Amino acid sequence: TVAAEVSKANPEKLLAPVLSAFWDQPDSWTLETYLRHEGYAGMRKALAMPPDDVIAYVKDAGLRGRGGAGFPTGMKWQFIPQGDGKPHYLVVNADESEPGTCKDIPLLFANPHSLIEGIVIACHAIRSNHAFIYLRGEVVPVLRRLHEAVREAYDAGYLGRDILGSGLDLDVVVHAGAGAYICGEETALLDSLEGRRGQPRLRPPFPAVAGLYACPTVVNNVESIASVPAIMNKGKDWFRTMGSEKSPGFTLYSLSGHVANPGQYEAPLGITLRQLLDMSGGIRPGHRLKFWTPGGSSTPMFTDEHLDVPLDYEGVGAAGSMLGTKALQCFDETTCVVRAVTRWTEFYAHESCGKCTPCREGTYWLVQLLRDIEAGKGRTSDLDKLHDIADNINGKSFCALGDGAASPIFSSLKYFRPEYEQHITGKGCPFDPARSTAWA
Ligand code: NAD
Ligand code: SF4
Repeated sequence: TVAAEVSKANPEKLLAPVLSAFWDQPDSWTLETYLRHEGYAGMRKALAMPPDDVIAYVKDAGLRGRGGAGFPTGMKWQFIPQGDGKPHYLVVNADESEPGTCKDIPLLFANPHSLIEGIVIACHAIRSNHAFIYLRGEVVPVLRRLHEAVREAYDAGYLGRDILGSGLDLDVVVHAGAGAYICGEETALLDSLEGRRGQPRLRPPFPAVAGLYACPTVVNNVESIASVPAIMNKGKDWFRTMGSEKSPGFTLYSLSGHVANPGQYEAPLGITLRQLLDMSGGIRPGHRLKFWTPGGSSTPMFTDEHLDVPLDYEGVGAAGSMLGTKALQCFDETTCVVRAVTRWTEFYAHESCGKCTPCREGTYWLVQLLRDIEAGKGRTSDLDKLHDIADNINGKSFCALGDGAASPIFSSLKYFRPEYEQHITGKGCPFDPARSTAWA
């Protein structure tokens, strides 16, 4: 499902969808369709500007990274040293894998040229002649479509030598990863791209200083780069009419789970889940929201008490979680929270790269305890043990995967401890007794 709508409760923030404007049109992914919708107009404007002015423009617009961390995009570009004599690289992180996150892949599938145009603008800004798109290898149809779009852009003179007479030479390589969650972590991605096993590197140095082949590298998320053409074309002030002072602009939210109409919803930052549910058809008929994630399973879960939290970086942060990838996974009252957290934790244990002890060992032990509790074989002391193990992973692991694994443990114990206790005292899952012997 693709639905592009906006907040009805904040009429002053109404906007026409940008990234998803023509996803429902036949052949939305072709260059011809893209050109009919002002495609490559932002690139023309940017190429007529000095690179530093493009950086300043994106910085003033206030665009923040859409991969999860929300780091200011213009500032990241500004970190690239100039006149250092080294090649500079742009690497687009298209390894979208955070559970519940499904916005970059649909964006690439429906409108790959917005990314390619953004790449040209970014490479002009950071003075780079080489860009890489690191895509999840499993999504073969997207890979094919991306290859085709890159070929179209070369044929039209938007990539290659002396783009539109600007003097910019740019080659774009599409690289298919092999499907490891850790390769979405930017430094593991760079190792993988260089042909090594994907494991995180120590930061600092950040990629901006020593990235691909130890050269200055900007690593940006797909949606971040694809948002740049509209900013250059329609203006930074236009961009700032949406969202808030610190989190301006539009973004793609992935709505999934027990909702009537799952899909991608484009809206201004700061919209609430209540508004998104109102305009998308709500929770599935006859049910009510129990818990949800604001930014995928790595971000602390929320409950129905948080329906009015503004979904921007500050709003979600102030309510005790993180905006992350804006993956709104909704669970209704039929869901066993212990079971959901067990499945997520199994995912983290499976995807742990094994480089550091707290995450490698800790996620394994979390899974053992959770499986026991789910199967009705837990003890009351296990709940403190769960918390203690998560505490020894959180902030003590080498990369953010460890923190992400600890996060659903903390938040589910905070909001649903009685449900864990019910599994222990009742010796099984109150939602589905048949399942309580699953791990016996
Ligand atoms: P981070 O805050 O450490 O870094 C964010 C970005 O800013 C990076 O590109 C980093 O290089 C840059 N940066 C930060 N400080 C810098 C400095 N001093 N100098 C130069 N550059 C600097 O976050 P992270 O560990 O890269 O990513 C964590 C996020 O990833 C989480 O918020 C999570 O939501 C997200 N995530 C996304 C997915 C997905 O599928 N999209 C999957 C897992 C996690
Ligand atoms: Fe690997 Fe996990 Fe350590 Fe990250 S936290 S380096 S994924 S073992």
